[in-house]
Amino acid sequence: MIVAIDGPAGSGKSTVAKAIAKRCGLTLLDTGAMYRSCALLGVQAGLDVYDPANADAIVAIARAAEISFEQRDEGQGVFANRQDVTAQIRTPEIDIAVSPVSAIAGVREAMVAQQRAIAENCNVVAEGRDIGTVVFPNADVKVFLTADPQARALRRAVQRAGGDAAKDKDATADQASIDEILADIKRRDEYDSTREVAPLKPAEDAVHIDSSMLSIDEVVEKILSLDEGLKALDAQNGPLDATSGIEGPAKPSGRARPAKAERNAGKEERTLERMRPFARNSFDDYYDHPMSDYPLFAKAFYAFVIIVVGVVTKLLWPWSVEGVDKLADKGKGRMIVMNHVSALDPIPVVISCWMRGISVRPIFKSEFNLNTLTTWFFSRVGGIPVNRGTADMKAVRRAKAALERGENILIFPEGTRIKSDDEPAKIHGGFALMAQLAKAPVVPVAIVGARDLRPKGAFIPRLFKRVYIKAGDAISFDSLNIKGKKQQVRAMEELAMKKVAELRDHLRAKYPGKM
Ligand code: C5P
Repeated sequence: MIVAIDGPAGSGKSTVAKAIAKRCGLTLLDTGAMYRSCALLGVQAGLDVYDPANADAIVAIARAAEISFEQRDEGQGVFANRQDVTAQIRTPEIDIAVSPVSAIAGVREAMVAQQRAIAENCNVVAEGRDIGTVVFPNADVKVFLTADPQARALRRAVQRAGGDAAKDKDATADQASIDEILADIKRRDEYDSTREVAPLKPAEDAVHIDSSMLSIDEVVEKILSLDEGLKALDAQNGPLDATSGIEGPAKPSGRARPAKAERNAGKEERTLERMRPFARNSFDDYYDHPMSDYPLFAKAFYAFVIIVVGVVTKLLWPWSVEGVDKLADKGKGRMIVMNHVSALDPIPVVISCWMRGISVRPIFKSEFNLNTLTTWFFSRVGGIPVNRGTADMKAVRRAKAALERGENILIFPEGTRIKSDDEPAKIHGGFALMAQLAKAPVVPVAIVGARDLRPKGAFIPRLFKRVYIKAGDAISFDSLNIKGKKQQVRAMEELAMKKVAELRDHLRAKYPGKM
């Protein structure tokens, strides 16, 4: 999830971005602070930042600059080369020096690279001048925030005098200070809008909001209302998973956001074009389209896989599904949640639904997309990838869309195969949010007998062992009788997983020795 907020100085970007970051559990990326840090480092190096002859030296400083953020109670701390520059970058001297520094193409290149690296690892709300146009042209939400210059100057003047115009609507400041800031704002707006590289301008698809007459809360509400995923994060009051909101010194680590191609394609407003029967369709096309739209060849391949896998698994590990009708409800999608003990688990559910004419979209961890071949395979069998450990709103939207059009979603909230009852299982609760957004019921399912098919270390699985699956009654959100969206999601997570455990215990009691 990327929220881009652009606009001129004093339009309220920082305050609004901070509020959204807090409410939705997003990382706040203050790009102005990064350019300010470069200007400060240049000044500290004794360079005249206004002299074009020093541009190369300033670019070298920017390239080498390690800029990071730290969340503090009173706001965000900024570090440049491990030096705390939070206060130093907000002085009138840097207010002026930042314009020429941020107009240097090489400086911008270096900063944009750092900004993108930060966003590779987390969900961000980024504020600046070129976020929606240059840094994140595929941002999920783009806002261009403006305010009339008088209002902006007053806010800054109040801020400098230690007040907060966002909280105190009647706050005033010394007129001389307002005039001085107004002049600076006008100068900077002019500089930022007319520079050659990445000038301040709204992205074509940005939503314009004039904050002159609005309170911060009103602006924030407007922005949250622009995107379902953002609303959902707000309702959740934080990410789906354990990912924390604001990072410490931001260091790219691991892969936590979907690949760029994935991000580009899955926006809700993306209008789905028909899949092409003979030409190549992208993986995103497979994730976004209903399986009934897949090209004929893909459907034939799927049917072939289902029949072969169905026959082979039925022979080698005779499986049966109790309560199979509970899995299928024509025209209405169901969120199927299941315990996870072996690679066999999805097969009986998928086949049982397929035989009743219902598509099942298994949610699989994106780590399985090891190479083109595995990605190709998972996309052809209707899989939807999820980046675990993050608020992967792309996956949430895809699942919601699938449920709404009558496809089932199959998910293993334990995330990974659980090989022993003593293993602690961390429940990934995203399924309840997906179901809630789509107003779909959740069906608990349990499987026993498959855990011990391949004992630890054994290469060949044990054959001809029976496997039993049981589906429970669908749980609707209404039946929870709980008010509050967030509370409902939590209650659904707990109840559904409790039901899965009960079904499993029931099967274990019925078929002694089966785990
Ligand atoms: O947002 P803030 O006022 O802190 O930004 C300081 C300066 O940094 C701006 O006046 C602008 O020159 C520059 N800037 C930029 N691109 C961004 C963010 C800030 O050029 N994305």
